[in-house]
Amino acid sequence: MSINAAVIGGGAAGFFAAIEVKRNFPQAQVTIFEKNNQVLRKVSVSGGGRCNLTNACTDLDELAKAYPRGGKQLKHLFREFGPEQTMEWFKSKGVPLVVQPDNCVFPRSQDSASITGILIREASRCGVHVVTGTKITGIRPGPQGSLTLEQEQGTQYEFNKVIVTTGGSPRKEGLLWLKELGHQIMDPIPSLFTFNIPSDPVTQLQGIVEEHVSASIQGTRIKAHGTLLITHWGMSGPAILKLSSFGAREIQKKGYDFTININWTGNMDQETVTQILEQTAKANPEKRVSSAKPFNMTQRLWEYLLEKNRLFANTSDGSQTARKWKEIKSKGINRLAEAIINDQYQVKGKSRFRQEFVTCGGVSLKSINTSTMESKIVPNLYFAGEILDIDAITGGYNLQAAWTTAFIAAKLKNS
Ligand SMILES: Cc1cc2nc3c(=O)[nH]c(=O)nc-3n(C[C@H](O)[C@H](O)[C@H](O)COP(=O)(O)OP(=O)(O)OC[C@H]3O[C@@H](n4cnc5c(N)ncnc54)[C@H](O)[C@@H]3O)c2cc1C
Repeated sequence: MSINAAVIGGGAAGFFAAIEVKRNFPQAQVTIFEKNNQVLRKVSVSGGGRCNLTNACTDLDELAKAYPRGGKQLKHLFREFGPEQTMEWFKSKGVPLVVQPDNCVFPRSQDSASITGILIREASRCGVHVVTGTKITGIRPGPQGSLTLEQEQGTQYEFNKVIVTTGGSPRKEGLLWLKELGHQIMDPIPSLFTFNIPSDPVTQLQGIVEEHVSASIQGTRIKAHGTLLITHWGMSGPAILKLSSFGAREIQKKGYDFTININWTGNMDQETVTQILEQTAKANPEKRVSSAKPFNMTQRLWEYLLEKNRLFANTSDGSQTARKWKEIKSKGINRLAEAIINDQYQVKGKSRFRQEFVTCGGVSLKSINTSTMESKIVPNLYFAGEILDIDAITGGYNLQAAWTTAFIAAKLKNS
């Protein structure tokens, strides 16, 4: 059978799938339909215009943990096409890469145009036909497994294989055409956002960066470790973005109004912190609590926590000075220990992180055979990329999911 394949969506997953279909089936006719006039728009702006195309993590268990949704299924697929193969693929096409100390992988040019350029050139070299300005609004399964694509203006195209790579849809209505075919849709909601903590004095610490913090959502078991950045509107940084990703559904259910608990030490418990404070008090009785800081945190945060816990006192000239360690009674030590490991903030709303966001939700993996990426409902229909209910924290993992699922879908295997 000669293959006449359509790829709906000219993004990362769409281009990669189309190129791989041509590699697997050189005789195949492959057409990408893109609704915009420009292809690969998101890849162009990804990673702040530098494109963090993957993450060099080699431990597949660790890698899978970056995906709050889809990690289990991806872990198996990474054995076939994971970060190592992705890096090899781009290098083999003449795109030198650099791996940062945090494992994020970028083109050496530090310009996403190196990635979009190679995908466009490679698609053109192997004869992929790209049709822009064409929005596909429906798929009609026909006889003998054929699939008819319906276009907005009423034009119809017939194919025998179709890969849907339309990316994340922020609205449920955008997924109706796939639901109508019988696929289960997980409500699309945002992931990867920062937390607004309006009018809280902590925002006066804007600009400070605390490493090795742990943050959790009160009343849940959702927890994340990493660096935390205090901003003029609230909190951001990897620990908060991870929390927004792991807790995307719970946070949405709470109407983006919830309490977070911060452990400024990362993972110490109350007993350990209390002991450290007591030892510090004993060793430095005459020193001011502000000048003998027993934890690895910025001086500004330390003083903020002391003030918040009334460990600063007014002086005769009206200014404030920290108490001496010998003046801090066990009640004060306990209060401070609690503030260090269980500091609470009321989050009210979210903000975008550098315009970067991913959609949590999409076509449920229950409707897909995840070893072929073929629909369980419509034969010869495949899915790849963010349209699926797969998403990850920041660090190149989302694009990796697009490359991996596109690679598998492009085999066009029937389940
Ligand atoms: C600002 C920003 C920065 C990011 N940076 C990174 C990063 O550095 N690293 C990382 O791993 N991830 C990053 N991400 C996430 C990553 O870009 C996405 O997960 C990835 O692009 C998903 O690829 P995709 O091909 O599935 O979807 P998309 O790239 O969104 O492509 C889908 C394409 O389908 C088209 N389309 C949609 N519907 C139709 C239709 N009905 N008919 C025809 N065409 C249609 C769209 O116009 C689009 O071109 C970033 C996201 C954003 C928003």
